[in-house]
Amino acid sequence: MPGRQLKLFEDETPGECVFCSIAQGKVESVTVYSDPRFVVFLDRSPLFKGHLLVIPRAHVENFDSVPPEIEGSILGVARAASLALQRSSTAMAHSLR
Ligand SMILES: [Zn+2]
Repeated sequence: MPGRQLKLFEDETPGECVFCSIAQGKVESVTVYSDPRFVVFLDRSPLFKGHLLVIPRAHVENFDSVPPEIEGSILGVARAASLALQRSSTAMAHSLR
């Protein structure tokens, strides 16, 4: 359709951002990992079992605007959160037996 643009993300101000609200604890989430720079939590609409979201505590508009000083840490944080989730799942499975 001429003149129509695909909009992937809604414009948000930091005060309205649901991710910032989750990072600040204003919106409930199941947090799997957190540190001074990141929060990792279970997705409310998971695409698969154990679907995690990794977000920086400081607001960023999109992945391209993640500050370079923290972008290199994202994979390590995701790995730590994934291991924490696996350990807790294993512990729960054992406690339910
Ligand atoms: Zn935000």
